[in-house]
Amino acid sequence: MSETKIPYKIYLEENEMPTRWYNVRADMKNKPAPLLNPGTLQPMTAEELEGVFCEELIKQELDNDTRYIDIPQEILDFYKMYRPAPLVRAYCLEKKLQTPAKIYYKFEGNNTSGSHKLNSAIAQAYYAKKQGLKGVTTETGAGQWGTALSMACSYLDLDCKVYMVKCSYEQKPFRREVMRTYGASVTPSPSMDTEVGRKILAEHPGTTGSLGCAISEAVEAATTREGYRYVLGSVLNQVLLHQSIIGMETKAALDKYNITPDIIIGCAGGGSNLGGLISPFMGEKLRGEKDYQFIAVEPASCPSLTRGVYAYDFCDTGKVCPLAKMYTLGSGFIPSANHAGGLRYHGMSSTLSQLYDDGLMEARSVEQTAVFAAAEEFARVEGILPAPESSHAIRVAIDEALKCKETGEEKTIVFGLTGTGYFDMYAYESFHDGTMKDYIPTDEDLKPGFEAIPKFPGNMM
Ligand SMILES: *Cc1c(COP(=O)(O)O)cnc(C)c1O
Repeated sequence: MSETKIPYKIYLEENEMPTRWYNVRADMKNKPAPLLNPGTLQPMTAEELEGVFCEELIKQELDNDTRYIDIPQEILDFYKMYRPAPLVRAYCLEKKLQTPAKIYYKFEGNNTSGSHKLNSAIAQAYYAKKQGLKGVTTETGAGQWGTALSMACSYLDLDCKVYMVKCSYEQKPFRREVMRTYGASVTPSPSMDTEVGRKILAEHPGTTGSLGCAISEAVEAATTREGYRYVLGSVLNQVLLHQSIIGMETKAALDKYNITPDIIIGCAGGGSNLGGLISPFMGEKLRGEKDYQFIAVEPASCPSLTRGVYAYDFCDTGKVCPLAKMYTLGSGFIPSANHAGGLRYHGMSSTLSQLYDDGLMEARSVEQTAVFAAAEEFARVEGILPAPESSHAIRVAIDEALKCKETGEEKTIVFGLTGTGYFDMYAYESFHDGTMKDYIPTDEDLKPGFEAIPKFPGNMM
């Protein structure tokens, strides 16, 4: 197919949209390690998880074998309101960079929540509703997940209680108001509403919170209320499963024009967008059908893959959640201020951690001023104002395209543009004013986090 025939935007017709999620675990030889009960150190059973999570979601969480899972019709109908997401050929960026590389991005910011998180929010709300629950609780850091969940819950008439990391609650009042517009109640975390919140406040008075704290509070709020369960916007296997819609669509769009990517890049916070984007391609690699280079991009200020350890750790600061085996900086690690709120989690999805440990995926960390330079360059030529999180992927896509310019290679690069940055203008402001700083923790800074990782035979010994 000749170059010029590839449109700026590759859309799928409604009848070409994927109707199944793809579960990459089915093709993994080394399965992600199971969640452990922190008391017994035995794998968590479905029964033990039932007090916290919805039944159908537990099934998906524990299912390492079913390759494809049909997307329920109600969810497909919701997806149609904002999907398929376009796969855009970044002709203007290529021209600006004068690179022979061909760059594509999958844009997930085309909905009010402004990110890919809605793909899993609607699925989780749907299963909660189907189980007859009254509502769900969750945490939100930067606010995208809370916003997405509020939208999904209002659509399905479910109550939604959001614990929002305090510094975001204060810095991002508009996100908070979007959530309230969709009927959610929003509490700054840590709060005095929960036992774990009061404990954290007693130990760290004046703390502006972290995702790990907010998770502990949201779990407590769910388990102490009749008819409520807790839902999580990233990290878990089930979330990667729902986000596989990103990769399935990307693959269908590329296949339509016989395009085979060489490099696939995504930003990595808890790993859900990256896991979703690469899943079907990783499946081909795992089955030995094709080879791709996958790159996870994380902030230098919160480098769980590039500087973390692979161990069982708590998913939350309050240590109320099960233990997950993952690349982690320690559940006590509170990253220094960074404007990509969605990438400030101490750990990484167990599925991606295993793939990374098996050498099937690479990881890079980038500093935030370099990230915003890429964001601005991208916005000026491609028009879209990217989220700071997404801009981590843009940074590495540009770096790879510039390498092609040196070598003359015509590589095809695909990256995930996970969302828009309209609520992040303070971050852009500090970049423009030249006051933005690059925080890189020293080994000394990382030490207390590692030391607090639970120790038992086979773990961190
Ligand atoms: C939450 C978020 C991320 C990071 O989360 P993952 O689970 O790693 O995908 C990235 N980009 C945007 C816009 C987000 O909202």
